[in-house]
Amino acid sequence: MNMIELKQVSRRYGDVQALAPLDFSVKQGEFVTLLGPSGSGKTTLLNLIAGMVKPSSGQIFVRGVDITNAPPSARGLGMVFQNYALMPHMTVFDNIAFPLRVRKLPKDEIRRRVTEVLDMVRLPDLAARKPKELSGGQQQRVSLARCIVYNPALILLDEPLGALDKKLREQMQFEIRRLHARLGITMLNVTHDQDEALSMSDRIVLMNEGRVEQIATPDELYRAPRTAFAASFIGTANLIAGTVQESGGEHIVVSTALGMLRATRGVNGVSRGAAVNLLVRPESVRMLPATSGEEAQQEPRHAGTLEDSITLGSVVRHHVRLPGDMQIVVQQQGGRHGAAHARGAPVMLDWAPEDCQVIAQD
Ligand code: ADP
Ligand code: MG
Repeated sequence: MNMIELKQVSRRYGDVQALAPLDFSVKQGEFVTLLGPSGSGKTTLLNLIAGMVKPSSGQIFVRGVDITNAPPSARGLGMVFQNYALMPHMTVFDNIAFPLRVRKLPKDEIRRRVTEVLDMVRLPDLAARKPKELSGGQQQRVSLARCIVYNPALILLDEPLGALDKKLREQMQFEIRRLHARLGITMLNVTHDQDEALSMSDRIVLMNEGRVEQIATPDELYRAPRTAFAASFIGTANLIAGTVQESGGEHIVVSTALGMLRATRGVNGVSRGAAVNLLVRPESVRMLPATSGEEAQQEPRHAGTLEDSITLGSVVRHHVRLPGDMQIVVQQQGGRHGAAHARGAPVMLDWAPEDCQVIAQD
């Protein structure tokens, strides 16, 4: 069953189409992330579901019930924001108890539930503190606790970890996933951070300029992006423009600035003469010293110059300049198995047609 379903929902602000008509659903128990650059319409979409913004067109269903015109309080949803939105004069306990008091639950029940969720977010000893006596990460745990304490069927999270430093953010990503698994609550998360989206989500809705670019699992989105935007937004993309010369078989042949290149992925429905991009991920490119005596595994090989190498801990990224002013990013394992190359050294690149994905040009 769908927890949320949107049918042709759109939103305009004057001349700005913040959200083009869109169909989209979230299944019960799913963790879905709205991912996209700033201004792509993520908050607008979340606020439409929360009821804080009215759609210009379309219908919104929660568990099959049309709530398009229902006020926010009647939707039974929880929300967590980046700025915590805790009440500063209240203790942690009272902040979390607040939604239960509004619902007029008995005192004992309130104490039991607040204690339970404080345990869940791993803050059992901080009930008597005020928000300003907590770190950012602790405050965000309190706002999460305040949300899960009344068992909403659906939680909407708008960049909840945006204000936290990297280490804490990763810890909180893990905590939220843990709560999601334990409580079985459906979660719809918003972020502009691709790593967060990849590591947390069952599915990702990739947004761009008020439109949905692609809806897919993290793995699909990385391995089979449908557009150049999707390819570049998730991970690093080497995109090589060209024109299809041969098509119809297991592979296609594309004429590019690097000569004729073969590709075997995403070739269905690609016709001769079509303008395409070939996507090759950095980890699929092999780099050898130009002087290497090793047999070529793939043809053609591309001679270039190593411009720069950056160590990112477990991996090393190389920028290689090829003829035609093209730059290719190569990623290799770091550590003692990684090859060391001098800056400015001549190198050879190759990759397999199986690692080459065809993407239509926009
Ligand atoms: P995101 O959350 O992805 O950064 P938003 O949903 O906040 O994007 O905004 C999408 C677009 O809608 C932007 O161009 C933004 O300027 C516009 N927009 C959002 N809210 C309003 C508003 N209240 N009035 C006018 N324009 C708005
Ligand atoms: Mg936003």
